[in-house]
Amino acid sequence: MGLKVYIDGTLYEKDQAKVSVFDHGLLYGDGVFEGIRAYAGRIFQLDAHMERLFNSAKAIALKIPFSQQELKQAIRNTLDTNGLKDAYIRVVVTRGVGTLGLDPNKCSGSSVIIITDTITLYPDELYEKGLEIVTVATMRNHPAALSPRIKSLNYLNNILAKIEAINAGCLEALMLNVDGLVAECTGDNIFIVRNGALLTPPETAGILKGITRDVVMDIARKEGIEVREENLTKSDLFTADECFLTGTAAEVIPVVKIDQRQIGPGTPGPITQRLRGLFKELTEKEE
Ligand code: PMP
Repeated sequence: MGLKVYIDGTLYEKDQAKVSVFDHGLLYGDGVFEGIRAYAGRIFQLDAHMERLFNSAKAIALKIPFSQQELKQAIRNTLDTNGLKDAYIRVVVTRGVGTLGLDPNKCSGSSVIIITDTITLYPDELYEKGLEIVTVATMRNHPAALSPRIKSLNYLNNILAKIEAINAGCLEALMLNVDGLVAECTGDNIFIVRNGALLTPPETAGILKGITRDVVMDIARKEGIEVREENLTKSDLFTADECFLTGTAAEVIPVVKIDQRQIGPGTPGPITQRLRGLFKELTEKEE
């Protein structure tokens, strides 16, 4: 039996899981989504993901036809039906089937899709050796135009940046905001370590408020590490002692080179490794 995909209350075989070509999620990127992990059958940070999904939907005036509790149950059921313990869960809410015009009021009602699968974002060896990233010319969306806080189905800004990174031989791109300050990567938030303190751009830099970012800041504070959300420039990164990225799929991954410049000694730093270890421990015990 193959993988089953949830669409609006029904579980379909993977190759039968389809949406209409008139869905505004497809026609206009009109919708929101979440990427969630399950570790050993426990869904990590599910409440935080529900909170962000419902807020993303609210920000684009999209009604999710479930309570958070009901959606959580549907996610749990889909995961269990597929017999998955370690999984990547993609929850998508689209505006639903409409006409060829933009008007969301002409859509029949939002559609909820839950896909459960496995994921490997970066090869294992990069967690040991560290990742190389590159600053790209594509600027992060201006928050006043389309807030990066909204995890919408329109990821073109990130995809354009990703294309530049791949063309430069890197797996991830560093995106700056219109002020030239560090924002985030295409699918990950960024941190540096300077003089023993952990620094990361604030929400006002125009970032997605990552759930892994929040968890890592929490872990660090509990460890007595000073954590500051402050604007960073490229030169702050070049002169950092350590650098790493966080994300649901990536978890905590060290960065050792940015724009072909070595960060610190060019190997994953001690604080990065400590936080990575503590994050792993948390995924092994917490929901
Ligand atoms: N920034 C962007 C643009 C993202 O898409 C993501 C999620 N992949 C992140 C940051 C990291 O957020 P989270 O830790 O919640 O996965």
